[in-house]
Amino acid sequence: MTQIAQNLEDIRKTIPKNTTLVAVSKTYPAEVVREAYDAGQRVFGENKAQELSRKQPLLPVDVEWHFIGHLQSNKIKYIAPFVKLIHSVDSFKLLQAIDKEAKKVGRTIDCLLQFHIAEEENKFGLDMKEAVELLHDSAYLALKNIRLTGVMGMATFTEDLAQVRKEFIRLRQIFERLKTDFFPNDGHFKEISMGMSDDYRVAIEEGSTIVRIGSAIFGRRNY
Ligand SMILES: *Cc1c(COP(=O)(O)O)cnc(C)c1O
Repeated sequence: MTQIAQNLEDIRKTIPKNTTLVAVSKTYPAEVVREAYDAGQRVFGENKAQELSRKQPLLPVDVEWHFIGHLQSNKIKYIAPFVKLIHSVDSFKLLQAIDKEAKKVGRTIDCLLQFHIAEEENKFGLDMKEAVELLHDSAYLALKNIRLTGVMGMATFTEDLAQVRKEFIRLRQIFERLKTDFFPNDGHFKEISMGMSDDYRVAIEEGSTIVRIGSAIFGRRNY
């Protein structure tokens, strides 16, 4: 068994069956992604549109590609034909741009609203007020080629897991409020994407439905 297959097996053992495991393959070449595919993994995450569009044709068509990074409007076209879920919608402008590109290729693209839950200033994401404004906007209601299926967040980069837990609890509360106020009868709005290699166990305890794990599967990245 390869190291990657072993890592995947170890992680799958510790997460509930109905939790989606996104294997974050950014910076790793297609051959390495293929090793994880051969070990049964089908969901992969990338954070750069062009890197993803180069890798996608090199892997089997049944891979589900998730986009997890900061997305610029002019790069959506690279991923719109095939991307399964965009985790990182942090503005109405971006959502509109995704809708437009999805329409061009005849698709509806599932998206998550990314929230700023960390203490660090430099991380991307909406706050509650911005999200509520977006969801009340008639221009949002007019978008037909996107579908919001939940929320995403990244915790502060710290060893203090109590702090991380607080932030994950906040994201779950945001999800619950949006669910109640805007999506009460929409069964598709159900995802909470939180948890990475160093904090996914805490995230699962706090209600994560999608974990995004890179280095614990593929090894340390050397950027
Ligand atoms: C890189 C990345 C991950 C995975 O990080 P690891 O610490 O390697 O597990 C998860 N989410 C996002 C948004 C990322 O950019």
